[in-house]
Amino acid sequence: MGTTGILILMLLLMCIFVLSSINYIQNQNIESQANDNFKYIIDDYSTNLEVLGRESIAEATEKVYNGLPVHDSEGQIKKNLDKHLNMKNEEFKDKYDVDLSSEVLSVEASDSPWKVLFKVRLNGEKDNERFSQIIERNATIEGLRDPLPIAKLTIVSGVMAYDDEIHYKTALSAYMLLHDLDSPESYIEATAPMTIKKCPYDPYVHHGDPGVLDDCLDTGYFHESADGSCYLCRLEGKGKCPHYGMEVFIQPHTPLGNESLSCSDHVVFADHYNGEKIDPNDWDSLILDSSHRKKYGLSDYGNATD
Ligand SMILES: [Zn+2]
Ligand SMILES: [Zn+2]
Repeated sequence: MGTTGILILMLLLMCIFVLSSINYIQNQNIESQANDNFKYIIDDYSTNLEVLGRESIAEATEKVYNGLPVHDSEGQIKKNLDKHLNMKNEEFKDKYDVDLSSEVLSVEASDSPWKVLFKVRLNGEKDNERFSQIIERNATIEGLRDPLPIAKLTIVSGVMAYDDEIHYKTALSAYMLLHDLDSPESYIEATAPMTIKKCPYDPYVHHGDPGVLDDCLDTGYFHESADGSCYLCRLEGKGKCPHYGMEVFIQPHTPLGNESLSCSDHVVFADHYNGEKIDPNDWDSLILDSSHRKKYGLSDYGNATD
């Protein structure tokens, strides 16, 4: 074969390549066009999923606040959400003339403690065209109530929720007495924030800066914590869990200066180690161990100036 032969062969190969590429791109277009036909429906549905997912979590929280236990938060929220989505499917039938069926696949902790991840399989049919897609959406838990104190201690313990605060009354002291923990009287009348708000003072070492801790406690912020439990486990009354979670300070109001439990809620409800008041002269002082002092930049708190 001469040079001309090789050239012709190469030209032929190139033609085959170009033709098959064009064919491939066309197929892709047809497929994405089919998805495009449903895109507006799927987008609308996803937006609804975010809202209804949060609503379904809030209903589980309401159950806890009504004094009923939630043993399987994922199962409970799935059940709530299935109900909402079935109604949404009917609504979409009227709105878009599409036949939808949905199945909640999972409700799980996400890599952010402030968000819960929902996965739903959505099947649809319209004008003899079908689709099936898994939709994933995060719903925020900010603005929901913290279920842990009620779920952990139960409503009969006397713990109360009003004025956007958890009022422990004698419930926490009774719990500490029961678990043989030091100085339970330090936590009589202790309080904690009720509504979940993410602390903006990040990195947290800034809590040692002037005025920051006061503002954090006044507003009632929650903090990220690998040791604290996630929202789904809080619903089940777990002070600790394998997921990345959050912690909140339980603020004592006492003149007592005894060593007692460090006041981060995962320590009070699960880890059970002691700390000391960061300002011995302040009735409202937090009781903290050295690692939490370090995390929040409070190691020198109370010893500063005056
Ligand atoms: Zn804070
Ligand atoms: Zn968890």
